[in-house]
Formats: sequence, C-alpha cells, structure tokens
Amino acid sequence: MSKTIAVIPGDGIGPEIMAATLSVLDALDCGLSYDTVEAGMIALEKHGDLLPKATLDAIAKHQIALKGPLTTPVGGGFTSINVTLRRHFDLYANVRPAISFPGTKARYNNIDIITVRENTEGAYLAEGQTMSEDGEVATSMIRNTRKGSARIVRYAFEMAVKKGRKKVTAVHKANIIKTASGLFLNVAREIAKEYPQIEFNEMIVDNTCMQLVMRPEQFDVIVTTNLFGDILSDLCAGLVGGLGLAPGDNIGEGAAIFEAVHGSAPDIAGKGLANPCALLLAAADMLDHLGMVDKGNKLRQAIRDTMEHDRDHVTPDLGGKGSTQSFGEAIVKRVKA
Ligand code: NAD
Repeated sequence: MSKTIAVIPGDGIGPEIMAATLSVLDALDCGLSYDTVEAGMIALEKHGDLLPKATLDAIAKHQIALKGPLTTPVGGGFTSINVTLRRHFDLYANVRPAISFPGTKARYNNIDIITVRENTEGAYLAEGQTMSEDGEVATSMIRNTRKGSARIVRYAFEMAVKKGRKKVTAVHKANIIKTASGLFLNVAREIAKEYPQIEFNEMIVDNTCMQLVMRPEQFDVIVTTNLFGDILSDLCAGLVGGLGLAPGDNIGEGAAIFEAVHGSAPDIAGKGLANPCALLLAAADMLDHLGMVDKGNKLRQAIRDTMEHDRDHVTPDLGGKGSTQSFGEAIVKRVKA
C-alpha cells in the first residue's frame, strides 16, 4: 500500500527517537511517506504558535499522525497541546498496551494488558471546576454520557474481537459515584451482551489496582473512564518496566494519533540516550490500525529479539551500553533479516 502520514518529531528527545523509528518503518517497507510538520516548543520558536494551523491541516488531511513528545511551557496560560489535539480531533479512545519484554527490570514477565481509556469526558472537563471566593471550597465535576460510554465500550469490544482477545473488564466506582460511574457500568453491561464470544467482567477501581499488582495475568482488555484509565494505564506501564516501553494510541472516528506515553525528557535530550521503543511500539500499533498487522507484529518481534539478544545495543535505561541510534540500527537489522 502507499499512504502518507503526518509526522511530528516533537521536542527534547523527540527528533532522536523519531529518526530511529522512521528508519525502522522504512526498513519494514510499508509504503509510507511522511509529511513532517511541527508542534511544541520548536513550533513556538519558529512560528510563534505551539500548534500551527499547518500541523492541524496535515493531520486532518492524512488522518494518521505519528507524534513525538511535546513540551508544554509551564505557566503563561498555555493549554496542553496533547489535550488540544484530543479535543480538536475528538480522539475519544486512548489505547495503552502494556506488554512484557525481555531484559527489563519489571516485576512480571508475562503481562499483556491493553487499557482502553475514555479520553474526552469523565473527570477531565475544563468546565465545572469551581473554587469558592474564599478559596475554601473547590468543586470538580464528572460528566459521563451514554453516547461517550457506549462508544468507548464498543471500541474495546471491537478491538478485542479484531485482536483475538478473550476478556474485557469494565472498571468503575459505581458503588460510590452512583450516577456518573453507574451510567458507564450499565452501558458496559448492555454492550457486553452483544459480544457473547468475549468474556466480560466488572471490577471496582480500587480492587483493580490491587489485583493488577498481585495477579495481573487475570487481565486482558480493561475499559474504563478517563481518570481511572489515566491512573491504571500508568500502573500497567509500571508493571512492565516503565514508560520507556509504553505506547499510547489516540483514536477518533476519523483521525488517529500514535505516540509514546513518555515526555520530551529534557534531561537526556541530544545525548543519544533515549530509548526509542515506546515510539516504535506506537508505530507498530499504527501499522495494525492501517491494516498492516503482519508488519506491526514483525516490528514487535524485532524489538523483543533485539532486547533479548543484542544487549550491547540497547539503551542505558534497559541496562545496555548502546545509544538511540545503535538500538534503532539493531532493530533495522532484525526486521530486514
Ligand atoms: P518525561 O517522560 O519526559 O521524563 C521522565 C523521566 O523518564 C526522565 O528522567 C527521562 O529522562 C526519562 N525518560 C523518558 N522517556 C525516556 C526514553 N524514551 N528513554 C529513556 N529515558 C526516558 O517526563 P517529564 O520530565 O515529567 O516531562 C518533560 C516534558 O515532557 C514536560 O514538558 C511535559 O509537559 C512533556 N510531556 C509530554 C508528553 C507528550 O507529549 N505525550 C507526555 C508527558 C510529558
């Protein structure tokens, strides 16, 4: 196939991990061309805008973007660029796979959990956040809708079917947050009936945290609301060895943006120390999304084999002596083999 995607290298370590990722995609021969556009600090410095219109236009045109981490300046009233992108393209599903890889300092080596987090409503609304004049009382609102709950639960089940997963767990707090979390749970129960081939269970969020730490093997796909998904997906990333291996897919009805979960890591930027795997795994998810599932799996296997057998080439965060470039080159060699 031939397809053009928008590429946003991003800030800090972004350009380094993006260069490694694109060289691996090229080696996989997936017929992709790149429309490279800017966002973040680099765009602010060059164009006076953190998220230039040309970047939004490129994502709207190609509908698929691969994005490096972006730095949002602290203070100055800047809205997070990631939140802006999510809202602009209504990227309602945040899909966060957590997979065990060899050679990590993780507590478990058998984890394969995908968290599907609702990305547009729940407790993350800008409106409904108030503070009393005397600063003594702060209120935040949670708003879930039937439509929003239904589309995220349906996304989780459809994804489970497509990827051959066996079980979906709906995580909630409906025993206490009776209306908002209760609505989500009721909708999940209704939609689950449409997928009898997939096992469905429900779990309260506090118990889920304990179960994830003690018996993570019982989970397959987790679907949940915005705040719980934010927390649980980081917990899952921790179970497999941290953010260096965590991709994040932001999916809407039209556009989809694939990124690493970690930030721009200014402390190691420009030093060649950044682990490119999270962005590479996001690229593998992008290939799945584009219907190139075999290539996506080939890429994941190449990462796995490199981490297991080419220890000299992996980056220091994984205990190696290699660099972003040597890690990328080792993966290129394996996908070409
Ligand atoms: P961070 O994820 O950038 O870094 C946290 C720690 O992890 C640092 O020690 C860093 O060196 C290390 N690290 C991160 N990615 C790594 C990699 N690929 N390889 C090796 N080590 C890695 O988090 P932070 O320091 O809190 O944030 C820095 C900037 O990134 C902030 O401006 C923040 O707003 C931004 N950020 C952007 C995104 C995004 O664009 N998706 C996400 C999170 C943070």
